[in-house]
Amino acid sequence: MDEAYNELRWNPLIGAWIVVSSKRRGRPWREGVCPFCPGAPETGFNWRVLSLNNRFPALRLDARTSRSSRDIYLVKPAYGYCKVVVETPEHQGDLDSIPFNDLKLYINELIKETRELCSDPNIQYVMPFRNKGEEIGVSLIHPHSQIYALPFIPPRIQVEMRNMEKFWKERGECLLCKILSLEMNERERVLYFNDSFTAFLPFFAMWPYEVHVYARRHLGCLCELDEKEVEDLADAIKVVTSMYNNLFDFSLPYMLVFHQRPCKVSADYYHFHLEYYPIHRDRDKLKFAAGIEWGAWTFTYDSLPEEKAAELKAALSRGLEKLSSSGYRIKGKAI
Ligand code: ZN
Ligand code: ZN
Ligand code: FE
Repeated sequence: MDEAYNELRWNPLIGAWIVVSSKRRGRPWREGVCPFCPGAPETGFNWRVLSLNNRFPALRLDARTSRSSRDIYLVKPAYGYCKVVVETPEHQGDLDSIPFNDLKLYINELIKETRELCSDPNIQYVMPFRNKGEEIGVSLIHPHSQIYALPFIPPRIQVEMRNMEKFWKERGECLLCKILSLEMNERERVLYFNDSFTAFLPFFAMWPYEVHVYARRHLGCLCELDEKEVEDLADAIKVVTSMYNNLFDFSLPYMLVFHQRPCKVSADYYHFHLEYYPIHRDRDKLKFAAGIEWGAWTFTYDSLPEEKAAELKAALSRGLEKLSSSGYRIKGKAI
């Protein structure tokens, strides 16, 4: 075994931890054999959804640092978990095509993992996410998500918490509940809703086809979803993903993240939601986080969000048509 280091280095300029891991030699996957299909060495048989440990984790329980802290150069072991959730035994597909029951099992798996990982005293935050598409660097096509369990609350969540808490204190209501009611009043950017979730392209979208899915009830994390809400979340995910895959004549790459409150802070003001970030800005153009976006964290949006919402609405109706002709019973309504 060669030396492997997994450490956190503090960036004092932006006040954020960077997760650093040195290259490790791993057992290579057998060429052409999917490691997530049933019967692979790590998967076995007789499952519908499966959590595995990532074979090349950035965070690990036995993390070792390559050096010690020096002055303002802080170093800590990158303690944590990197897991893979194989969403279905089917080798191909996306969240709109895997069987609805598998989708429910998938959400229940995320709930179970969130609970378990949060119960580790050193874990502060659990983030499930899904990267899809070669453009986003995903090499394995077998439908899967990942979960990172971090020993700190990540900066973006801290920013959301700060703003939600401020709004809660100043206005006596939840920021996301407020956004939901504004969006439902205006309707122009709302795409789809069912009893428990609403999907819309936010007024303040940063990515051209960004879509947020908010729980309609004020709740803080995956663990608080009841059975009906799990079903409705599965439905919302299926419908939004199908909308994306019917936007152009190809399966749309995207990132999907689950934003929930941290493990060890009660944060009653925090409102559970999902965010989808597709990276296209047109059929054949990508939107990059380029100079101004990455160098300044100032996003430019090259059309009106309402125009992009209209495109998504058209894609949504194509998607819904396909879903129902495939026999799926849609639970909510398009707007
Ligand atoms: Zn496979
Ligand atoms: Zn709320
Ligand atoms: Fe968020």
